[in-house]
This record gives sequence, structure tokens and C-alpha cells, in this order.
Amino acid sequence: MKTNWDVIVVGGGPAGLFAAWEIAKAGKSVLLCDRKREMGVPVRCAEACGEEDINKYLPVEERWVGAKTHSFILVLPNGKEIKLSNEKYSGFILNRDLFEYDMAAKAGELGAKIMMKANVIDLIHNDDGSAKGVKVDENGTINEYYASVVIAADGVESRIARKMGIDTTLKAKDIEPCVQVTASNVNLKENALYIYIGTNYAPGGYAWAFPKANNCANIGLGINGKYASTEKHSKEYLDEFLATYYPHVSVQKYITGGVPVSLTLKTLCKENMLIAGDAGRMVNPLNGGGICHAIDSGVLAGKAAIEACEDTLKIEKIFKKYEKEIYKTIGKRHESQYRIKNLVYQMNDEDYNNIGDEILKISEDKRSFFRIFSQVVKHKPELLIDVVKAFTGI
Ligand SMILES: Cc1cc2nc3c(=O)[nH]c(=O)nc-3n(C[C@H](O)[C@H](O)[C@H](O)COP(=O)(O)OP(=O)(O)OC[C@H]3O[C@@H](n4cnc5c(N)ncnc54)[C@H](O)[C@@H]3O)c2cc1C
Repeated sequence: MKTNWDVIVVGGGPAGLFAAWEIAKAGKSVLLCDRKREMGVPVRCAEACGEEDINKYLPVEERWVGAKTHSFILVLPNGKEIKLSNEKYSGFILNRDLFEYDMAAKAGELGAKIMMKANVIDLIHNDDGSAKGVKVDENGTINEYYASVVIAADGVESRIARKMGIDTTLKAKDIEPCVQVTASNVNLKENALYIYIGTNYAPGGYAWAFPKANNCANIGLGINGKYASTEKHSKEYLDEFLATYYPHVSVQKYITGGVPVSLTLKTLCKENMLIAGDAGRMVNPLNGGGICHAIDSGVLAGKAAIEACEDTLKIEKIFKKYEKEIYKTIGKRHESQYRIKNLVYQMNDEDYNNIGDEILKISEDKRSFFRIFSQVVKHKPELLIDVVKAFTGI
């Protein structure tokens, strides 16, 4: 197989796939390595994202749509439900396995080389510290591939970003161990995204139930790493949650995964290497959503790599522009969301119930996330500036 490429992308999640697709569209040669056996599987995700997050790059295909939701329901620790049902709160659940499989095929059609069961174990460096290429374990055989640019899109556990010499360490409070089942016979009352808050089943995090086709749903929870203990594992929290809210479901699939709920990395490039997606900690720290930022950063990293291949002398300037763009569009907003997360998740069930009672006094058609957070600010005035920043993007 060809060993020299314009760009090598490590990881075939949304970030890596969109980077490879973008690069192949521009006619550059790109090799994408993923250590999994099959693209898109296993799905370690609740799959909620905005249809527009994909549509702005290419039309959403019917088979990618797991479900469309028309409202958002926040369930308080005392079981009371706060419903937001105006158009703004309609949402969309992906079939991520099919979406990623198809994106890989689309990139492949444009000329990208996708390699599965290709575990990137190391970077190969030039004398000046830049990357010459990668070492890949393919079924026990170690092969070397070379490129002008390497993109680390290897997710939350990213080894490649660390091998670039970038500190990606996460504090316990900045990682949420999650567990999730995909279950049938769920009978969600409405076609809604359900979020449950309560310290007894999701301390420092939340639980969710997101509908999928055929009366199925992704039901899971994430607890803050600070509360993770050997005495009670996330799965026990989930079992108790299911027994309380969904005792009749039948489980088809069980997954675990970690979500980085930290600040986005400020350093996202070194020499001829770039970081995109979860590897760069681009998840919204307040709600744990990372698909849209993985896609956006993948596209931007792809564009930066194309530019760098065309003008190698300006690589530093081009990659610094990438860093700035990620900060402007993702990292800056995450700073206020991170501060809100740290305060909100310290509240106890009584705080949540009291705030909830205030929100329930607002008529359903007038409720919004902004009004919910306005009530939170009444209880925690120190959050005012961050809530304004989070909602205005300033
Ligand atoms: C339980 C759970 C629920 C979630 N729910 C949502 C949700 O509802 N909505 C949302 O927006 N986000 C959600 N997220 C977050 C979302 O899944 C991530 O933000 C998103 O997948 C990040 O995409 P990525 O491409 O950066 O990384 P990933 O999707 O993690 O992809 C990384 C890829 O790199 C590959 N890889 C890793 N190391 C190597 C290596 N050394 N060599 C080769 N390949 C390698 C992996 O196999 C993987 O395919 C959830 C996460 C979890 C764990």
C-alpha cells in the first residue's frame, strides 16, 4: 500500500471523518486510521444533536435519523416535570452507526483511504520535532506511513495528542464516566428529550432518555468523576434509575464511555500536527454534547491541513489561525459553560426542586432555557455574568 500521504488522520469518529472528507474533497491524499473493526460501531453516545449541525455541511440522509423530538422535558429530583415545547426545543437523534459508516464511504468515494483495525501506536518524528508520520499496528504487523500533516482525532482517550507533547490530562471533576443502555418497550410519554437531575442517581451529572425508532430509547447517565467510587459504580446508579423510571424496558445494548467536561484545550497544534474533537476537549462542559463540535473542528482542521499542504512555509500561521478559530467558535463559550457547570452541579436536590417550583409558575409557552437559568441566578447570583455570556456568546 502507498506509504506517503498529504495528511494522516488518526481516528474515525465525527471529527476524523469530517476532516478526511474535507481533505479528500480538495483533492489531497488522505489516510484515515481507526483501530475499530467496523466504522460507527460501537456507538458510545446518546446520539442527540442538531439537524442543522450536519445540514450545514451536507444534507442529512433519512437513514441517519433515529428520531425527531418535539420537546424537552426536565425531570426534577421530586419527579415533577418541566416541559419546554416550543419549536426551538425540537431536536434530532442520530443513527450514529449509519451516519459514520456512510461518511466513511463518502470520504472513500472522494479518494480518502480508510483503514480499519489500524491502531496508531506512535508518531514518527523528524529531528526538529515535527511529525514525519505514524506507526500503525495492523493485526500485529507494525507499518509506517508518512505525511506532511497529522491530525489527532482520536477521541477522549487520545494518546496521539499526548505524543505530540500536548498536555491533555483531565482532572477527576472534568470527566464524566457514563453508562447507557439502548432499550425497547420504553413508552416515552411524548416524543421528547428527557433529562433527569438528582443527586441520588446522577451526582454531579444527569440522566437521560432519548427516543429512537420502534419505541426504543437510549437511556443512560453520567456522574461527575469526583463522585465515582469503588463503592458504587455508574452501572449501579443506572440500574437503580431504570428500576425507578423504566422498570418494564428490555435491554438490547449496554455501553460505557467517558465524556470530557473540561475547558477546551488552548494548544491545538504543534509543528505540523493538529488536534480535533474530543481529543482537544471540545465537548460542551455543561451538557456533555460533543458531536457538533467534533464535526466543526474536523472540517476546520481539514481546511487548515489543506492550506498547510499548499503553503508549507506558512504552516505555523495557518495552524495558529485554526487554534484561534476554535477558541472563538467553541472554546470561549465553553469557559462560561464550565463555570456554570461547576456551580450548578454543586447544588443539592432541594435547590433543584425549589428552582423547579419557581419555573413551573411560568406558563409553558413562555418557558425557555434562558428563563430557567434566570431562576438559577436568583439562587446563585454569582452565576449572572456567566449565564449572560453563555446565552449571548460574548
Ligand atoms: C455515553 C455518552 C453519551 C454521549 N451522548 C452525546 C449526545 O447525545 N450528543 C452529543 O453531541 N455528544 C454526546 N457524547 C459525546 C460524543 O460522543 C463525543 O463528543 C464525540 O463522539 C466526539 O467525536 P470525536 O470524533 O472527537 O471522537 P470519537 O467519536 O470518540 O472518535 C474517536 C475515534 O478514534 C479512534 N481511535 C482512538 N485511538 C486510536 C488510535 N490510537 N488509533 C486509531 N484509531 C483510534 C476510535 O476508535 C474512535 O473511532 C456522548 C458521549 C458518551 C460517552
